[in-house]
Amino acid sequence: MSEQTPSIFTKIINREIPAEILFENDRLIAIRDIAPQAPMHLLVIPKSENFQNVTELAAGDPQLLAEIVSTAHNLATLHSNGEYRLVFNTGESAGQTVFHVHAHVLSGGLQEHTLA
Ligand code: C5P
Repeated sequence: MSEQTPSIFTKIINREIPAEILFENDRLIAIRDIAPQAPMHLLVIPKSENFQNVTELAAGDPQLLAEIVSTAHNLATLHSNGEYRLVFNTGESAGQTVFHVHAHVLSGGLQEHTLA
């Protein structure tokens, strides 16, 4: 369970707060990050709130993690040059602010040490 229920991402999924949605299926959603840190900065988010971070997701639903990776790849190909950085902030001190697992997909103009 996430610390805040429903999470901000569940509110986006439920259309309770706005977001630019780029892709959606029954298991996940992809949005443009509201505070982009690269020319292309997307978030790929499972609809389930059952996983706080990527470690829980990998243990609990590895197929869903694989879907996140392939969706990130497809979106980076569609919206950028197909090369991208995939970041899962895990834990507060690592910069995680929303405890509903999500992948940052960053592409274009990245510096070597840029982190989401
Ligand atoms: O990894 P972390 O938990 O910090 O990532 C949360 C991300 O969600 C941030 O990059 C933030 O800009 C994004 N966000 C968003 N739309 C919101 C709230 C947060 O894109 N309404």
